[in-house]
Amino acid sequence: MPPGAAIGILGGGQLGRMMALAGRTMGYRFITLDPTEDSPGGQVSDHQIVANYDDRTGAADLAAHSNVITYEFENVDAGTAAILEKESFVPQGSELLRITQNRIREKTTLNSIGIPVAPFQVINSVEEAEQAAHELGLPLVMKTATGGYDGKGQKVIDTLQEVRNAFEQLSVFKADLILEKFIPFTKEISVIAARSLSGEIRTFPAAENVHRRNILHLSIVPARIPDTLEADAKRLAEEIADKLDVIGLIAVEMFVTQEGHLLVNELAPRPHNSGHYTMDACVTSQFEQHIRAICGLPLGSTRLLTPVVMVNVLGEHLQPLLERVNELPDMVKLHLYGKKESKPQRKMGHLNVPAQSVEEALQIIDTLEIWTTTEVGQ
Ligand code: AMP
Repeated sequence: MPPGAAIGILGGGQLGRMMALAGRTMGYRFITLDPTEDSPGGQVSDHQIVANYDDRTGAADLAAHSNVITYEFENVDAGTAAILEKESFVPQGSELLRITQNRIREKTTLNSIGIPVAPFQVINSVEEAEQAAHELGLPLVMKTATGGYDGKGQKVIDTLQEVRNAFEQLSVFKADLILEKFIPFTKEISVIAARSLSGEIRTFPAAENVHRRNILHLSIVPARIPDTLEADAKRLAEEIADKLDVIGLIAVEMFVTQEGHLLVNELAPRPHNSGHYTMDACVTSQFEQHIRAICGLPLGSTRLLTPVVMVNVLGEHLQPLLERVNELPDMVKLHLYGKKESKPQRKMGHLNVPAQSVEEALQIIDTLEIWTTTEVGQ
C-alpha cells in the first residue's frame, strides 16, 4: 500500500488519532468513522464519516473511500466487519477480533497454542460458580466474558460467601461469566508485537504497568524485571503474533507471578495505552509500526532510545496540569487528545517523561504534584 493511499479507521478515539498523526507524516490519507462529530481522530483525518459502528451505510461508505481499513478497538460489530472485508482490504481480518472480543475464546485459544494463562472456568449458574470456586480455590476474580474494560465487569472474591453476590451483581451485564484464580502478581507488564503482511515480527521493549482504580496510571520502561524475564515476555508475544497470524499490532498484557513466571492476562489487537511511551522513546512509535505493518512496509526499529515513564492524564488531572503547563521540565512531552468534555477517569492525554533513569523520571512526575494531590482513593 504505497504512501498516498487512503487508510480508513473504524473509531475516532485517541488511538485512531495517534495512528492518523503517525501515518500522515508518512504520506497516507485518513478517513475516520465515528458516531461523534469532530472526534479526536476525525480532527486529524482528511474526512470523518459520522455514523454508528453498526451502521451498514456508514461502513459501506468507509469501505468505498479507503484502500485499506483498520480499527482502534476490538468490539467491532460482526456485521460491520463482514461489509468492510467484502468491500475493501482489511489486512487484520476479523478472526483475531472474534477471539479477543470474548475472554473465554481468548483464554481457550491461548491455552490451545501453549501460552500460559491464569486457571479459569466458565460459569453458567450460581451452583457452577460455587463448584468452580471449590475447584480453583480462593481468592478468585469473577469476570464478564465480553464488554468489560478498565476493571468494569469484574469482582474480586475472597470468601465463598461472596460468590453468590458476585454472580448476581455481574449477571446484570447479561454476558457469559468466568471465574479465574486471583494471581498475587509482583508486577504487571506488557509487550507489543508487530507482524507485517510479509510475516516479519518485531517486539517493543516490555513496559511495567501500574494501575490506579483499574485504569493504567504509569508505564515504566525499561520494566524493572530481570533481562531473562523480559526476553521470555518478548518470546511469548512473538509466539502469539506468529501462531495467531496477526497483521498489525498485538498488545500482550501479562502478570509476573511470585515464582517469577509469566501468565498472559489479556490481548488487544491494536495500539495500546502501555505503548504510548514509544512515541518519544523509541526509534519507531507503535502507531507508525502499525501503519507499516498493515501497509506492507518493512517494520521499523523498536530500539529504546532512553529510559522513560508514561503517565496518563485523566479528566481530574487535566486542569491542574494545564495550570502548570509552563513549568513542565523541557524533556517532558505532553500529548492531548482533543476531547471536548473532560470527565473524571476519562483519558484526556498523557505525558512521556524521558530521563537518565526510570527512577529520575518517576521523581520528575512526583515533583509535579498532580497525581498525588488530585487522586481520590489509592
Ligand atoms: P482485565 O480487565 O482482565 O485486564 O483486568 C484489569 C486489572 O485487574 C488487571 O490489570 C489486574 O490488575 C487485575 N486483575 C485481572 N485479573 C486478575 C487476576 N486473575 N488476578 C489478579 N489481578 C487481576
